[in-house]
Amino acid sequence: MNRFRTRFNARLLPLAAATALAFASTVTHAAETTAPRAENAFLSQLDAAARSARVSNVDYVLDFTLTGKENFSATTTLAFDLKDNGAALTVDLDKATIKSLKVNGKDVTPQYNGWFITLAAQDLKQGRNTVVVAYERAHSTNGEGLHRMVDPVDGRVYTYSHFEPAAAHQMFAVFDQPDLKGTYQVNVSAPADWQVISTTRETRVAASGDSKRWTFPKTKKLSPYNFSMHAGPYKMWEDRSGKYPMRLFARQSVAQQVKPAEWFKYTKSGLAFFDEYFGVPYQFGKYDQILVPDFLYGAMENAGAITFAERGFMYKADMTDEQRARLAGVIMHEMAHQWFGDLVTMQWWNGLWLNESFASFMGTLATAEATEFKDAWRAFYSEGKQQAYAQDQRSTTHPIEVPVPSTQNAFDNIDAITYSKGASTLMQLRHLLGADVFRKGVHNYLVKYQYKNARLEDFIGSLGQAAGRDMKDWTQQWLYQAGVNTIAANYSCAAGKISAFTLQQSAAREFPTLREQRVQVASFRLDGQQLKLDRKVAVTYKGAATTVPGMVGAACPDLVYPNYEDWGFVKVQLDGRSFDSARERLGSVGDPLLRAMLWQSLWDGVRDGKLPLNDFITTAVNNAPGEKDYTLLGDVLGKVVASRHYLDLMHLDGPYTAQATRQLEDMAWNGTVAAKGNDNFQRRWFGTYLGVVSSRHGLDRLAALLDDKGGIDGLAINQDLRWAIIGRLNRYGYPGAPALVEAEQARDKSDTGAAAAIAATVSRPDPAVKTEWLGTITDLQTKLPFSRVRTAMGSLYPAEQGALAEQSAAQRLARLPELDKAAGPVYMRAYGPSLIPAGCTPASVARLQAASTSMTALSAGTRRALLDTLQEDQRCVLIKQTMTAK
Ligand SMILES: [Zn+2]
Repeated sequence: MNRFRTRFNARLLPLAAATALAFASTVTHAAETTAPRAENAFLSQLDAAARSARVSNVDYVLDFTLTGKENFSATTTLAFDLKDNGAALTVDLDKATIKSLKVNGKDVTPQYNGWFITLAAQDLKQGRNTVVVAYERAHSTNGEGLHRMVDPVDGRVYTYSHFEPAAAHQMFAVFDQPDLKGTYQVNVSAPADWQVISTTRETRVAASGDSKRWTFPKTKKLSPYNFSMHAGPYKMWEDRSGKYPMRLFARQSVAQQVKPAEWFKYTKSGLAFFDEYFGVPYQFGKYDQILVPDFLYGAMENAGAITFAERGFMYKADMTDEQRARLAGVIMHEMAHQWFGDLVTMQWWNGLWLNESFASFMGTLATAEATEFKDAWRAFYSEGKQQAYAQDQRSTTHPIEVPVPSTQNAFDNIDAITYSKGASTLMQLRHLLGADVFRKGVHNYLVKYQYKNARLEDFIGSLGQAAGRDMKDWTQQWLYQAGVNTIAANYSCAAGKISAFTLQQSAAREFPTLREQRVQVASFRLDGQQLKLDRKVAVTYKGAATTVPGMVGAACPDLVYPNYEDWGFVKVQLDGRSFDSARERLGSVGDPLLRAMLWQSLWDGVRDGKLPLNDFITTAVNNAPGEKDYTLLGDVLGKVVASRHYLDLMHLDGPYTAQATRQLEDMAWNGTVAAKGNDNFQRRWFGTYLGVVSSRHGLDRLAALLDDKGGIDGLAINQDLRWAIIGRLNRYGYPGAPALVEAEQARDKSDTGAAAAIAATVSRPDPAVKTEWLGTITDLQTKLPFSRVRTAMGSLYPAEQGALAEQSAAQRLARLPELDKAAGPVYMRAYGPSLIPAGCTPASVARLQAASTSMTALSAGTRRALLDTLQEDQRCVLIKQTMTAK
């Protein structure tokens, strides 16, 4: 799966959420495996283990009747081997109306609680059992199960399935746990103009009245969450030029925004790359990709039928290189899962990280090696890896491998540790063991466990065997202990040469583990105005101090960077001289990765309260306009927007803020104008302008762009940009802004238009708007689709509207426990990061501290969001103090 990434993490945008689920969310642990299963919406690891100990050889025959209406009807025929019939057995099926239940040929009155059916022991037998459930159910509208969406443009109905972690039972009767793999034979009756897409390709489509009957042959063995079925009048593109047939699907009304040639190009190169790399050919015969609306995440690796969020991968203009690189990267990530996740699957959700880490690692590797985006690792350094560093320095960080007591907690850790720290750790492991050994270990693992489930020990065991080394200490240090270490170069010079060199490793007090790691240490000398590489030495360090004899004798350096070329997952603390060189010579460093790392050192300095934010802003204003590397420019401008975000949060009176915001605004405007003729750069600069403009003069300029007056040479203002402009004008209360929203909605009746209109409306600096929308967001019975509620959450209180946010802050905080209890984890994952109140003042910090002391009964995810908000608020206060102290 791919989560959406955000460029900076001062305040995370909501990533994922779903409608409130109306149930109490207590986790109950079965005392022992023979105890009856806890009566709640989730499945505990103990209950899952008890079930998979008894059940095997699962085959599903699924029959669906879809009409486009709000309900669907279906029959599940479930056959399996049972070890013993000494106790009852449960089958998951969520909120269905059961019409009949047959167990081994006998009609049975369902014992059903709305979450699972309990099959009585006396109806079961040792050996093969067959259960037939006929039922009706409402389509879901929260992005899980069999989601239904009515296209506002043309009234057409689209459906798609999404199951991870455990929502297959919102669509059919199933043992909804990853270690009960099964086969799926599917039959679907659907309206005649629909496409039906599933794991296998249909073998028959027969007309039957107004509908068509689709037949799909039995799949290979899959975990329930990797099976899928999608149906609707989707437009289809096809390409058979590669080894495997490829198709792409999207809604009719947005089909023009899809660039199929790009999709097929990256898909084809990816399939060729992975076949070769893994040494195990792609297993699912055909490669379908479907763009779907209202999707909760970025993309999902259903075997052979991968779903992608429309909002992430549709474009109303030609794609920029950044968009193309992202598309390639996500296609590769989901493709890596076809082997790692779908073919070999984790036994339980504690193994989710290995799935995601590996897919993130392999997705980046494939993007770098099989597409034109050779700098994919640099993009990973600037985005994913920085998020992982930031999160690993929080008090709420966690080891990569953590216990997951029930499906309720399966997605508690869908975060930068699971994705990017894990991926960085695998990259480090590849450096430590060597690329060939790493690949051999992966190949052996896939061959040994294909169509089965595996655990961490199995993966590490395969690598250790290939490397001929014991991986126990490494596993303990990296996977079971949280926190990031810091390394610093400690050296002395005599007679112009390095006379002693030690690499020093330290750890945060709360997470004292020191680790073994292989990195490159490099020294640089000033040559005229340029910092030039003088020496680099690869070293495997462990413990608090490691001497590096290879550095002795090198010229006394102007800059030392102890994680050159980014092999390691470690925070770098520059020595004083190197820090000064970085600041003064940033623009003259030739290697763009090193330049990115030095920018990062400065930014770390800001976030750690060591470098005043205004110094960073000065450096940015002096150096960003000259940055010619497209990927790095994106990184630097992301930090510029984050700087502005901090200034907004601080609410400082006095001349500096006005002057700095104006400086950033002018820089972004001038960058946009100067980039004429270079579409990629121009759109990147204009995107930054949209993120920082707030002066009346600047807003006037924006408004003029809507009228095709005052256009910018070379820049086409497409529908997405029009909405972004209207959003910004509304956010700053520009005269006439509400009318612009209305007029634009009349022009653009699309789904994305409706979402953009909500974002613009709720962001207005108007207390009445805030009250109304906060009411809608927290009304768990609202008729508004959840995707809209989530949009509203993310836009309600922009950083500069601190006074308005403060009006509801105490109330929001007080209501948190009640909301957490009533709404499900998917809702809270969006609510927490957006609406737990921070204020960048000692008072707001104290308020959060008091809440963290008193609110001890929150769900794990919400508690973490509370503590993260507290820590980020403390950080904001620290940045403010550092800036105003001078
Ligand atoms: Zn993934």
